[in-house]
Amino acid sequence: MSLQERDKKHLWHPLKQHQLQPESLAIVKAKGCVLTDENGNEYIDAIASWYTCMYGHCNDYITSQVYKQMQQLDQVMFSDFTHEPAVKLSEELIKILPENQNKIYFNDNGSTAVEAGIKMALQYYFNKEDKRSTFIAFENGFHGDTFGAMSVSGLSVYNGPFEDFLIDVKRIPTPDGSNTGAILKQLKGFILNHNIAGFIYEPLMQGAAGMKTHDANGLNDILKYLKSHNILTIADEVMTGFGKTGKYFASDFIETKPDIICLSKALTAGLIPMAITSCTQDVYDAFLSNDMAKGFFHCHTYSANPVACAAAIAGIELLTSQEIQDNIKSIMNAHSTFEKHIQNHPKVKTTRHLGVIFALDLNTKMERYGDLRDKLLKFFMDRGVFLRPLGNTIYIQVPYVITDIELQKVYQVIEDVLETI
Ligand SMILES: *Cc1c(COP(=O)(O)O)cnc(C)c1O
Repeated sequence: MSLQERDKKHLWHPLKQHQLQPESLAIVKAKGCVLTDENGNEYIDAIASWYTCMYGHCNDYITSQVYKQMQQLDQVMFSDFTHEPAVKLSEELIKILPENQNKIYFNDNGSTAVEAGIKMALQYYFNKEDKRSTFIAFENGFHGDTFGAMSVSGLSVYNGPFEDFLIDVKRIPTPDGSNTGAILKQLKGFILNHNIAGFIYEPLMQGAAGMKTHDANGLNDILKYLKSHNILTIADEVMTGFGKTGKYFASDFIETKPDIICLSKALTAGLIPMAITSCTQDVYDAFLSNDMAKGFFHCHTYSANPVACAAAIAGIELLTSQEIQDNIKSIMNAHSTFEKHIQNHPKVKTTRHLGVIFALDLNTKMERYGDLRDKLLKFFMDRGVFLRPLGNTIYIQVPYVITDIELQKVYQVIEDVLETI
């Protein structure tokens, strides 16, 4: 029996309606930018397996560092002990994170990194005897699938059945260069009428919303305004972190730095799940007390797993290397050329790109998980490229190690699909 057949017996996949989508393609191997299925077909992974494997799949350097670590120290409780990989990772991260970040807190995935960020903000004020309960977030943001993260997310496909159980969130539109005044007015109203603990945002680009960009100056004005009102700001860089935008972090483009930053996805280069919530000294200091209960009692069993830390350290080494930085620049240049070539196509409504992320919106209306979207996905896969449209957005987020030939093939299948819809 094929893997695909055996899968159906006991497995339940995420983001799937099994009655309509019974098949899951079985992948048996991944190397560089190429996925191989159980029938030997190859696919270019043009979205880096959800923005994780930015240095290529099964990267030799990263796997060798991880293998070394596995033989030295596999797992130990981080509540009671510390170890070289965690210490080293904190040192390396602080070097590249925005300059106001000074403390590193470990989590298991993007959602729990956000969850911890939300809890940090709530307890920050609670510890100061200033109880607050409401968050501000962008419309159509996505921050993960646990309850806190789901609450601040604004995409209803994910949240529908759970709406009655979520924490209180006020929403603002993303800044578009002309609406900042109106947004600040809205914020003023929220601050007058609610106890606002924090503002959570995907800086510069909203991933799950369809790689939607917004105005950096407007975002800076929002952050400045909230800071001046003593409201914590939480940048969710789970998607944008580690070079995707052309800088190490999207927050590097913005003058006003967040108090808290959530990281995951490319953090461990696609090898092992892990996440981090970083914060300023000021946030950390609010948890220092002679009272035990003012500490941060949020913990995951595998916190700071040494093997995951080793993957992250190796990833940062690669990210900061000249070779990867050059690759990022050449992908950005290729995207610019492709954008010029494609932007006036009659089937294309708009295009945008930021760092290694390129997106175009089709003129055609498409449901997020509808028939047309499935047809597009199949069209790409039949031609050996894994691209996963979001609504009517087709986007590329390729590993930094993609070859020029592979990248040109990704562009070509997109051009080809425009002729068929
Ligand atoms: C993917 C993502 C998350 C959730 O991360 P998981 O590891 O899937 O829990 C949160 N925020 C953003 C911006 C993301 O892209």
